[in-house]
Amino acid sequence: MDYEKIFAEAIDAIHDEGRYRVFADITRDRGSFPRAERHDAGDNAKSITVWCSNDYLGMGQHPDVLAAMHKALDETGAGAGGTRNIAGNNHYHVLLERELADLHAKEASLLFTSGYISNEATLSTVAKLLPNCAVFSDELNHASMIQGIRNSGARKFIFRHNDVEHLEELLKAADPAAPKIIAFESVYSMDGDIAPIEQICDLADKYGAMTYLDEVHAVGMYGAEGAGVAQHDGVAERITIIEGTLGKAFGVMGGYIASSKALVDVVRSYASGFIFTTALSPVLAAGVLASVRHLRKSDIERTAQQTRAKDLKSRMKAVGLPVMDSVSHIVPLFIGDPVLCKQVSDILLNEFGIYVQPINYPTVPKGTERLRFTPGPLHDDKAMDALLDALSTVWARLNLARSAA
Ligand SMILES: *Cc1c(COP(=O)(O)O)cnc(C)c1O
Repeated sequence: MDYEKIFAEAIDAIHDEGRYRVFADITRDRGSFPRAERHDAGDNAKSITVWCSNDYLGMGQHPDVLAAMHKALDETGAGAGGTRNIAGNNHYHVLLERELADLHAKEASLLFTSGYISNEATLSTVAKLLPNCAVFSDELNHASMIQGIRNSGARKFIFRHNDVEHLEELLKAADPAAPKIIAFESVYSMDGDIAPIEQICDLADKYGAMTYLDEVHAVGMYGAEGAGVAQHDGVAERITIIEGTLGKAFGVMGGYIASSKALVDVVRSYASGFIFTTALSPVLAAGVLASVRHLRKSDIERTAQQTRAKDLKSRMKAVGLPVMDSVSHIVPLFIGDPVLCKQVSDILLNEFGIYVQPINYPTVPKGTERLRFTPGPLHDDKAMDALLDALSTVWARLNLARSAA
């Protein structure tokens, strides 16, 4: 059996579709985000501006976060020393779980090593524990939720994206006696649209369903204390389980859920993805704790982010760049072809020192390939001028479609 040949053919298939992924080799430059050094295949490095980071607010270089991490490193050393079953709770985990429960006004929270694991572990565990459970899942849900639902073995019903009528049809048709979970996101990260959370909660009440809300692209950024869109909409108490990441707007790493005491205890006690893996480093937990505390008190970062996103959208529109409808901080620019999408991204990086990675299938449906910009408080006017100039040049050179200005 020629194993290598099988692997090579699988890669060739991706090349043929024009969606083979090459990761840029980047050193982020602390103190001057969103600037970074980009390394080429040799020894050369060139200064670039990053326009697609999910460290949305620049918390990855915030002095409070770094100071907390230095302090924890000096105090406790590098790692957690094992799973929590073996090594116990590091005190930073306890403090952080308290903080996150309080942030979301829930009884309890539980940390995971990533947002991906928190979705996979929680959904697979809860849906499996509920006998005869039916899960109602938005068609654009993140891969980690899809994987969790699949691993639960529960029956899955997919509703059209943000379509509450379709969701109700499916709920109505289901066995009234069966336990139900509605799983969805608040801000959808590729289109930048936002779920009708309150309407979904109304349906959950009507049909006796639990709600599971992924706020990965909202925590830190929406709501008075950065608890997410559910807090902003005043409906957080109606959500059974809120899930978030500690690696995007909070700028560090890890994931979590916040929910009732009983639910958190059941996931802690049953979820393989929680039990059998080394706990988050206390250094990371300490950094996140500082980040969450800062963003609960300060809204300077999220206000500036919203302003920068509005500015970029309106400037793109004004020059006829086909910016897609987005009500959030995410700015998607439509291209509609995987090869062109990669080509535009390459030119921006190689000629203009602007890094925005191509978003191709399977992250988005084929034919909707795009560039995805995430402007933040640290992108200044000069960086935005340079971006608009570069885009105009590339659009003209490749004769790309413009929208009516
Ligand atoms: C990034 C992402 C996750 C996973 O979070 P990580 O902390 O990066 O593992 C979960 N859900 C959504 C919608 C995401 O975009």
